[in-house]
This record gives sequence, structure tokens and C-alpha cells, in this order.
Amino acid sequence: MSKRDYYDVLGVSKSASAEEIKKAYRKLAIKYHPDKNPDDKSAEDKFKEAAEAYEVLSSPEKKQRYDQFGHAGVGGAASGGYGGGGMNMEDIFSQFGDIFGGGGSPFDSFFGGGGQSRGGRRVAKGSNLRIKVKLTLDEIANGAEKKIKVNKQVVCKTCDGSGAKDKGSVSTCKTCGGSGSVRRVTNTILGQMQTTATCPTCHGSGQQITSKCNVCHGDGTVRGEETISINIPAGVSEGMQLSMAGKGNAAPNGGIPGDLIILIEEVPHETLKREGNNVVYDLHVSIPDAALGASVEVPTIDGKAKIKIEPGTQSGKLLRLKGKGIPEVNSYHRGDQIIHVNIWTPKALNSEERALLEKLRESANFKPQPGKSDKSFFDKMKEYFE
Ligand SMILES: [Zn+2]
Ligand SMILES: [Zn+2]
Repeated sequence: MSKRDYYDVLGVSKSASAEEIKKAYRKLAIKYHPDKNPDDKSAEDKFKEAAEAYEVLSSPEKKQRYDQFGHAGVGGAASGGYGGGGMNMEDIFSQFGDIFGGGGSPFDSFFGGGGQSRGGRRVAKGSNLRIKVKLTLDEIANGAEKKIKVNKQVVCKTCDGSGAKDKGSVSTCKTCGGSGSVRRVTNTILGQMQTTATCPTCHGSGQQITSKCNVCHGDGTVRGEETISINIPAGVSEGMQLSMAGKGNAAPNGGIPGDLIILIEEVPHETLKREGNNVVYDLHVSIPDAALGASVEVPTIDGKAKIKIEPGTQSGKLLRLKGKGIPEVNSYHRGDQIIHVNIWTPKALNSEERALLEKLRESANFKPQPGKSDKSFFDKMKEYFE
């Protein structure tokens, strides 16, 4: 399933101000709010879609990553098989403090009593889990599947997450009759609204437990371990965050698990240095090779490659191997490898070498001719990195 562009979702242009983005979201949030559209799946989807778009576009840092990398830059579903970083209702309602202003706003009651609902019942949400994943340049270039063992809250196997000792020790909540919520009517600027509040007795589960599970003591979760297989798309970079929906901590009492947030860390390569989507290699050639020309081997992320050093090559020359860099996330485009040529000057000489060089020192061709060298280093850098 491909995601819609976040700017399209909110109906704003890429140059929209923070205030315009907020306004556009506020309009959609009111239009598609679940309390106004009960049992309307398409309204709920639109509500969630708008919330997700706002979540990204309202954060300068996330917006910048989205502008640069698209959905993948903010843990999107477009690659790697993620759950889409989809937001749950809990997250969405927590945005409203910001959007509608806390305290005294008529929307407080309108939007109050939120929470993930499942058949009308409020369901607990597990907390998100954050892990770091270290990747080599090779893994970044090719994408990687990582199997990672994580310690987290998992569903209690003894009670299957219910928290109850057995089936007989679960009964329907008497306060709310099992709905998990109690209703009340409030006056808002949109007219009279029926709002729902979480049942104070069962905290929204709709159930009461008379006898608790011996293993989890009624929580429905226990500390455990899970090996999670993570597909990391090619082209990610240091500091990027990916999210896998539902792979975080299990929620108490059979609720919705949190998300797994994966923070990318780059392991520096021995000889290749990453510069954006390009890879830079510092090559050292001997004075004779630079003067006479040579064929030399260089490492690349795809293995070794042979390159030609032209006769008369100056120190500092930049050579380019097209397409030997890092792929862009969500794109077929790949950066290049740039080879920075350095002339190797020997530090120790025997008498024979010394005599040869003394002779060469007198030769007119060995006198530096700065005006006739290649472009300046700065011109070359500009040419290669812009
Ligand atoms: Zn249990
Ligand atoms: Zn209840």
C-alpha cells in the first residue's frame, strides 16, 4: 500500500507556514473526528492519515527528513516492510493539547475521553521501545536484514494476556456494563455533543478480574525476550529513525503493543568515507606511477575496481567512479565514488635512490610549475560535491 503525500493529505503547499499546516490539520481533525463519524471506517482512516501527516509536518526536524527522503525518512511504509509508522488514537489525541490548546477550550470536552477504541472499548497501549542498530557501509549500501534480540514486555503466556487466573475469574464490569466507557452530554461551540469518558471502574477494559494470574499478577504482560527481524532499506544514514508498528512493548490486559523505534548508527569503514551519497577514497600513488601513468586497484563498496592513472597526474586530482556510491532511500539513483589522488613521497632513501633523485632534481621537467597545474583544490571540491 503506498502512502499519500503528506502535503496532499493536509491540502497545503510545500511552502506552507507552520500556522497554515496547523490550521489545515485542525479543519480535518474536526471533520473526520470519530465522535462525529461513529462506525465510519473511511472517516477514521482519514482522521489517522491527517494526524500522521501533521505529526511529521509540524516537527521541523521530521519535516526536513520527509522533504529529503519521503516516507522512508520518517519510518514510512514505502520500503523495508514497515508497518507504516501508523499512529494510534492515543498518539493522535495527545497531539490535541497542542492543536486545540489546553485548558478551558471548548474542544477539551469535545475531544476528551480519547484513546484507542476497539468495539467502543478503550484499550491500553504498550510503550514504544527504542533500539540502536549499527550498520557497516556495506550494509547501508545494500540494505540489510538484522535479527535483533530485544528485552521487552511480552504477553503473559499463562493467562494469554488477560491477567486473569482462569476464564471463571473474569466478569463484565458492572459500572459500564462491559462497554468500557460512560457517556455524558456536553455543550460545545459545535452544539450539544455526546461525549464518552473512560469507565472509572475498569479503566476502559469493560471487564473486572476477580482472581489474578499468578505469573503476571494481573498485568497480562511479563518481561521477556523476542528476536525481531528488521529489514533496513539501502541508503539510510546516521541518526535516521525507522519504526515498526506493534513491535514495541506488549500492552497490559491484551491491549495494543507499542512500536519499535530503530535508530540507525553508522560504523565507520576502514578506508572508505561517506559524504552524503558519495563515497570518498584517499589513494596514494608513487612518484613514478604519477609521472609515467599506471593501472591501480582501489576498494569500492562492491569489491575491488581497477582505475587508470594518466601519465603526469598531479597530487590532489579527483577521479570519479560513477554509480559506486550509496543508493538514495526509495530511489534507483546511486551516488559515486570519488578518488582523491595523493602522491606518495618516500620518507627513507638508500644511496642509490638518493643519487637518482639528485639527478632528477636538476632536470627542468621536475621543477614545479604552479600556473600549469590542474584546477585549484577548492574548484575541484565544488565541482564534485555540488
Ligand atoms: Zn498472566
Ligand atoms: Zn467498566
